Amino acid sequence: MGRIIKLSEDVIKKIAAGEVVERPASVVKELIENSIDASATAIYIDVLGGGLKQIKVVDNGIGMTKEDALLSFERYTTSKIKSTEDLYRITTLGFRGEALASIAAVSRLTIITRTKEEKIGTKVIVEGGVLKKVEPIGCKPGTTIIVKDLFFNVPVRRKFLKSPSTEFGHIADIVTKYSFLYLNIHFKLTHNGRLIISSPASKSLIDKVSFIYGNDIALNMINVDEKKERLRVWGVTSKPSISRATRDYIITFVNGRYVANALLYRAIDEAYFTLLPEGRYPITIINIEIPPEDVDVNIHPTKREIRFHNPDIVYNIVKDGIRNCLLREKLQPEISEKQLHAVEAQQIEVRKVKSPKEIIDTTITEKGVQTTLVDIHDFLKVEHMPKFETPWRILGQVANVFIIATDDDSIYIIDQHAAHERIQFEKFCKEYKENRIKSQELLEPYMIDVAPQKIELLKNLLDYLKTFGIDIDYFGGNTFIVRSVPVIIKEIATKDEIKDFIDELLSLEDVKVGRLPKEKEIISMIACKSAIKAGEPLTMEKMRKIIYELFSLTENPFTCPHGRPTVIEIKKKKLYRLFKRS
Ligand code: ADP
Ligand code: MG
Repeated sequence: MGRIIKLSEDVIKKIAAGEVVERPASVVKELIENSIDASATAIYIDVLGGGLKQIKVVDNGIGMTKEDALLSFERYTTSKIKSTEDLYRITTLGFRGEALASIAAVSRLTIITRTKEEKIGTKVIVEGGVLKKVEPIGCKPGTTIIVKDLFFNVPVRRKFLKSPSTEFGHIADIVTKYSFLYLNIHFKLTHNGRLIISSPASKSLIDKVSFIYGNDIALNMINVDEKKERLRVWGVTSKPSISRATRDYIITFVNGRYVANALLYRAIDEAYFTLLPEGRYPITIINIEIPPEDVDVNIHPTKREIRFHNPDIVYNIVKDGIRNCLLREKLQPEISEKQLHAVEAQQIEVRKVKSPKEIIDTTITEKGVQTTLVDIHDFLKVEHMPKFETPWRILGQVANVFIIATDDDSIYIIDQHAAHERIQFEKFCKEYKENRIKSQELLEPYMIDVAPQKIELLKNLLDYLKTFGIDIDYFGGNTFIVRSVPVIIKEIATKDEIKDFIDELLSLEDVKVGRLPKEKEIISMIACKSAIKAGEPLTMEKMRKIIYELFSLTENPFTCPHGRPTVIEIKKKKLYRLFKRS
């Protein structure tokens, strides 16, 4: 007997379903796309238990007749294309005719639908791909799809799903993306009865940004609109005054379809070149309108991957489009109050070092003798009675990034951020181990908005964060209140940096899949935010303190918590060799 058998219809259906329906969010995506294709102007999504229990999508689109409703969940049935030629000029989001069939194969599906022309609607129930019931029903024009018990008949698949809150995060992510693109559609998303997103129809994308991300961000967005030949790029992008630690806030569409495309990410990075520090990303939402025949969307069943026939042209229009809009804005780099003070302090000190007499002279004429004497005392105190004994003599700071010091045997180049990060890391580690973290209540608690897909993730972390002295409460909507933070952070980080900290935290791999991140990971993130930045001008006193603490407080002064060096030594011998002195 041969070994090959023909697979049963049931097995084939489940295999095919797996390609389209990976998780609850894929169901939501397919259902939203169908509602959009059906010209809906309101799409309400109600989710129970992360979508594993139930997903309900209600739209006010064109609806289906009874015949169409019965065909809709069969495989390869579509109203959107007819011939092979149509495949090369696709204008709808769907066309493969397999989404509803795939969903029906792995869930208990109910379709309730009515066209405007008909008086009475149709209700269809399908379980595991098998039609169970068809009956007339009174309902409004439009379509309601209810998907219950996803993967009830594919237990293996169910096992691979993450926690309900993680799965819901993915759903919120999808709804966010579509509500940015379809301005004329009112999107609403609830989870277990709680309203998570409400994004009414509006005229401008910036309004949508304020519905989803909050006003703070919306106020810092500018419009992008660039046309070239048959291409157009439009959307919004953030001023360089705000930025994010991850690419999570870059959302790109091509002809109204969400895509994750490396070429587009590179073009956006390039547009912000030198405008944002390395490792920082903008908030960008753009749509590329391109003749359908110049792009191939039929690469993968989920349609998330695409291929441009002329990638260079697309790259350039995205890059130039964004960059031109940015440069047109007045992008005065804003120096913060803190930086200004540091610069002033440093200049005063340089004057003191260069010519103490000059200070005496000028101050005599301006302020009188008394003051001058005080000044001289100050000068003596700072310059000649260092509080921190260090093994090295500090020569100065280079590029506001490196401290240069010597012990007459070597020159030491210290990375100020890496060194301070090591110090803060060990200080905080110690506080944490000894259970005596100094936490400081904020006089004015920070209200922070997080992206809707991150709400549940952050809620899961709140108790854990308290053990690190970070006290955050859920406020409602997508807002959280930061009440206290470790003193160590408070001394250095601005409100924006604390926001960044939370953003970065929510992008950790562990957090994304619903696990608690490792203690060390949190401590090193706290250390990073509590450390003096590269680019910050430092007074002599501050530099001395860093070097003093690096050697007196840390067990390992020579690398930062990420393993990068903090200090580089150039030996005298090496200098001799370099200058060809033997
Ligand atoms: P596709 O979208 O690729 O055509 P689907 O399996 O997603 O395939 O849907 C099959 C058909 O069912 C669609 O072509 C459309 O005619 C109909 N349909 C699905 N959802 C809706 C809806 N919300 N409103 C109206 N018609 C719908
Ligand atoms: Mg579809």
